[in-house]
Amino acid sequence: MPADRGIDEAAAVLRAGGLVAFPTETVYGLGANALDPNAAARIFEAKARPSFDPLISHLADAADLPALVGAVPPAVAALADRFWPGPLTLIVDRPAAIPPIVTSGLDTMAVRVPDEPSARALIAAAGVPVAAPSANRFGQLSPTRAEHVVAGLGGAVDVVLDGGPTRCGIESTIVDARGERPVVLRLGSLPVEALVEAVGPVEVRQGSSGRPVAPGTLAAHYAPRTPLRLDAVGAHDGGRRGFLAFREPPADGDWAAVEVLSPSGDLTAAAARLFDALHRLDAAGVTEIVAEAVPDAGVGRAVNDRLRRAAATWH
Ligand code: AMP
Ligand code: MG
Repeated sequence: MPADRGIDEAAAVLRAGGLVAFPTETVYGLGANALDPNAAARIFEAKARPSFDPLISHLADAADLPALVGAVPPAVAALADRFWPGPLTLIVDRPAAIPPIVTSGLDTMAVRVPDEPSARALIAAAGVPVAAPSANRFGQLSPTRAEHVVAGLGGAVDVVLDGGPTRCGIESTIVDARGERPVVLRLGSLPVEALVEAVGPVEVRQGSSGRPVAPGTLAAHYAPRTPLRLDAVGAHDGGRRGFLAFREPPADGDWAAVEVLSPSGDLTAAAARLFDALHRLDAAGVTEIVAEAVPDAGVGRAVNDRLRRAAATWH
């Protein structure tokens, strides 16, 4: 169903407790009415997502935040004011209207306003906050095209809105700005440098394993089905191998499939192509993917973060 049609029908599905996959500027989300615990439960079921992994709720407009949660800490409001709509998720106190299943029992909730007109039109038409994690099975590659959603979740979703490939390609940056100094809980499409420029120093808290504050920070996550190794050009398991390059194909080696993220070395373009390239390598029938890290600046930090977690899955 094209994103510019069917929004009203999709909104009705959301209001009736159904699941709607829809494009945002980051990745495709799997949406349900965030006020309805049964609808939220269907997200966990469709994704096979552990119940301890809280969902991000999406609003149509920044002005809807105080209406939902009441008073917002000034630093949180300042970030929302500066970066919404956009790929920044903020942590606020959970209001009574949001059922605990959405936040996995936490007394905080994660919330953002996506910078994608069709997503905001859908949420506005539904008239409720929309809980939406990435529209993939838990731990697997995030979807940046409607085809990825259909291949991964298929019949578990009531409606899939197709808005073409997503613009950013990497999940939102998650920030807890309720304390003295903002804490980045997950690197994402909004670069840390942009946050620092807006609000001064921030702390980047890289989760590892165990029960995470933000399960996007689980050590093993965002993984292709094919084993992935990071920066291991020399290693060889003897099978058909695929290579994920930043700027140019590898000069040597016997590669059955090669994906180049950005020939011009543009990190934003590389981020936009990351998951799509990994989906293609996964489909290429290789036994191993060797990935090259990108420069560790701007959104490149989030690209490297995803590659490290994908590689960790296969250690
Ligand atoms: P995704 O499936 O990519 O949408 O993942 C959503 C991310 O938001 C996960 O890493 C969640 O743990 C994180 N998240 C959701 N709610 C909270 C919260 N209240 N505090 C911290 N992180 C959260
Ligand atoms: Mg996800």
